[in-house]
Amino acid sequence: MTNLEDLPIRPDLVGQLPYGAPQIDVQIKLNVNENTHGIPEEVALKIVERTAEAALTLNRYPDREFMALRLKLAEFLGEDLDSGQIWAANGSNEILQQFFQAFGGPGRKAISFGPTYSMYPNIARTTLTGYQLLPRLDDYSLTAEYVRAEILRSKPEIVILCSPNNPTGTGIDLSVIEAAYESFDGMLLIDEAYQEFADTTSAISLLPGRPRLVISRTMSKAFAFAGARVGYMAADASVVDAMRIVRLPYHLSALTQAAAMAALETSNQLLANVEQIKGQRDRIIAGVQKMGLRPYPSEANFVLVNGFADTQLAFDTLLSKGIIVRDIGIPGCLRITAGTESETTKLLGELALLLD
Ligand SMILES: *Cc1c(COP(=O)(O)O)cnc(C)c1O
Repeated sequence: MTNLEDLPIRPDLVGQLPYGAPQIDVQIKLNVNENTHGIPEEVALKIVERTAEAALTLNRYPDREFMALRLKLAEFLGEDLDSGQIWAANGSNEILQQFFQAFGGPGRKAISFGPTYSMYPNIARTTLTGYQLLPRLDDYSLTAEYVRAEILRSKPEIVILCSPNNPTGTGIDLSVIEAAYESFDGMLLIDEAYQEFADTTSAISLLPGRPRLVISRTMSKAFAFAGARVGYMAADASVVDAMRIVRLPYHLSALTQAAAMAALETSNQLLANVEQIKGQRDRIIAGVQKMGLRPYPSEANFVLVNGFADTQLAFDTLLSKGIIVRDIGIPGCLRITAGTESETTKLLGELALLLD
C-alpha cells in the first residue's frame, strides 16, 4: 500500500489527521453528545412512510432548493422567519463548511474563543481560511468588552461564537453577541447546536436588521437525529444566496429531505426528552460535585467535569465498565454527555467507585 506522504497531496494537509472521536461499541455512549434516547416507533414509522414515498421518485434529482423543508424549518423556528431565510445541509458541519467557502478563503481569517468546537479549525483549513483561537476568560465565560477588544485587535473576517459552548457548556448572553456584531464588518456565526437545552435566549431574535449574523442549528443533538445528518441555519436571505453559490447541486438528498420532514412533523415526540436530559445533566453536576470533582455550569446536554487526578486512568476505567466519555484534551477534565436516567445512575456509580 502507498503511504499518504507518497501521494501528491496538498502540502497543507501533510501530517494532518481526520476528525476521530472514537466509535467504540460499548453499552453506554456518553462521548459525542448525541441524544441517547432511541427514536419512538411511531416516529420511525412516519420516517419510513415519508422516505418510502420519496423512494418512488428517486430516479429524479431532488428539489435543489428543498422549499418544503425550508418552510417547515421556518415554521419550527417561529420568530417571523420565512423560508427564504432558512438553509439546510448534511449536518451543521456542512453548513459551517459552506459558510467558510462563501465568506472565508485565502487571505481571510476566522476567530473563535476556546476551548471550543474542534471542527472549526478543520473546516477553516480545508477551505484555506486562516484561523485563530483566542482564549476564553478563566471561568470560560465571555464578556462584551473582552470580545469587542479581541475582535478589534485580531481583525477577522469571520467570528464564530458557540452558544452553549462545546465543550464547556457555557451560554453566551445576547449583549455579547450584539457587541461582537458591532465590532467588525465581517460575518458573525452563532453555533447553536445545543440551543434546545439552553436557558439563554437564542440569537435568532437578533436577526432583524443584522444581515451579517448567521445562526446555525442541528437536528443531531436535542432532536435525536444525528444519524440522518441534518443541520440548518437562519440568516438574512442574502446569506442563503451566498450558500447557494458554493453548495454542490442537489446536496440534500430526497431521502434526507423526506426524513427531516417526518422528524419535524413529529418534533414534539423527538424533543420530548429535552427536559428529562436537562434533569440528568443537573444530576451529573450535583453528583460529581459531591464526589469532590469540579463540574462547570452547563446549558447543554453535557457536563465538563474538572478535578480528575489522572484523566486517562478515569477514562480507561469507565471504558472498562462499558461507559465511554470524552477526553477533549483539557488537563484534569472529561466531558460527559447527559443520557437516560439509568445511564446517569450507572455513570455516577462507577465514578464513585473510581474515586474511592
Ligand atoms: C455536535 C455539534 C455540531 C453538530 O454537527 P452536525 O454536523 O450537525 O452533526 C455543531 N456544532 C457543535 C458545537 C457541535 O457540538
